[in-house]
Amino acid sequence: MHGRPSLVRVGSGPVETALGSLPWFRAPALAALVNSLARMATTPVSDELFARTRTVVPGGVNSPVRAFGSVGGTPRFFAHASGAHAWDEDGNELIDLVGSWGPLPLGHAHPAVVAAARAAIERGSTFGAPTRGEADLAERIVDAVASIEQVRLVSSGTEAAMSAVRLARGATGRSKIVKFDGHYHGHSDGLLAAAGSGVATLGIPGSPGVTAGATADTIVLPWNDPAALDAAVDEHGDDLAAIICEPIPANMNLVPAAPGFLGHLRDAATRSGGLLVFDEVISGFRVGRGGAQHCYDVAADLTVLGKAIGGGFPLAAFGGRADVMSELAPVGPVYQAGTLSGNPVAVAAGIAQLDLLDDEAFARLRTVTAEVLAALAEPLVGAGVDVVARRVQTLAGLLFTTVAPMDRAGVAAADHDRHRTWFHAMLDQGVYLAPSGWEVIFTCTALTDADVLTIRRASEAAAEQIANGASFG
Ligand code: PMP
Repeated sequence: MHGRPSLVRVGSGPVETALGSLPWFRAPALAALVNSLARMATTPVSDELFARTRTVVPGGVNSPVRAFGSVGGTPRFFAHASGAHAWDEDGNELIDLVGSWGPLPLGHAHPAVVAAARAAIERGSTFGAPTRGEADLAERIVDAVASIEQVRLVSSGTEAAMSAVRLARGATGRSKIVKFDGHYHGHSDGLLAAAGSGVATLGIPGSPGVTAGATADTIVLPWNDPAALDAAVDEHGDDLAAIICEPIPANMNLVPAAPGFLGHLRDAATRSGGLLVFDEVISGFRVGRGGAQHCYDVAADLTVLGKAIGGGFPLAAFGGRADVMSELAPVGPVYQAGTLSGNPVAVAAGIAQLDLLDDEAFARLRTVTAEVLAALAEPLVGAGVDVVARRVQTLAGLLFTTVAPMDRAGVAAADHDRHRTWFHAMLDQGVYLAPSGWEVIFTCTALTDADVLTIRRASEAAAEQIANGASFG
């Protein structure tokens, strides 16, 4: 009945799924007694900082999902971090499985990244003029990602995705884009429709302030539904500028593409005359140097990058076919610009990080991701708790549900209350997971065997609490 999750290969892609099933009987002994978890860490400083910040910053945070809105409680205010560990303002040590949401595959404050950034800032923090580093970083990106012939650097993933869509429209002379329900491409108006984790966490479908006009040319389709895609292409193909997706969707927990689906997207884009845009803000330089498109062997026309390419600084990029990229100003008519674009400190940090992300680093990241996922999932399965644990290369997701979801609706149907309980049980034991069941697990090469063991012990305790009926709040 209980036991280790069996790993089942799903299709031809690099995807592993572990399913755990609920036993027919669950010991009810403590269930009636335990309705809240005994939280061990004390956080008076975080509490005070949160109260202070909330009076001057909406919700006390500068990006909504940080507010613990879907799990409750006080967000930890981070003071410093090194490798896979972070310390909050109260001095509590945490194993960090959020990793600033993706930019740090090598962990926090890697000495080479710190040294590069420090050296760069001493030469001047911004010039608004071209620098050598921009050539160096652009060459590395073009070398690494097969479909990118030219690249433009910007400051955030939002800006990169927005610019890629504008470029696709400008280059094709067409208006409509297809995006997928639950995929997130930043918060520009036209892309803020059915947009995954942050929005889903808040429980609002889009956002007030985004006009119907702004999303009128955005067609939202269910993920992994080839028939819906074909129908949309049949209906709108003549006016389709782009199909945009996260090739490894990681903003609705982790919902991999079904076998062949990315190839289907490629064919549909080609058939319609529109462009295929892969948003690899998360997967780029995290699943491997060539990104998801290398793993799945599907070439995009345009690719959006962010997070890992900036070594923890605000840096993102979009790039792709030279004929399309040359539609951008100053060569072509499609306008796009930025005061801090290609910022020399961010570029230096990015180069330092990318230079350390070799095959060996990705092999280590894959191994440690598998180990962390097993350490999280196996105790839950052993305690008879329903979980679906999935991994695509170096990205992992864990959901409290019985059937591995293949679209956003399946993720919505998971037990997010149970995630909240699990999140707090883990946090109490010093393991910092994303404060929402809609997010993925971000690992880093700095995680040690001892960390993995600590995670397993924490998950064993959390699993016991859950199996005994504990609930947070
Ligand atoms: N695309 C994807 C796939 C993302 O995950 C994100 C951010 N999580 C973005 C775009 C937006 O990036 P940023 O937060 O840097 O604007």
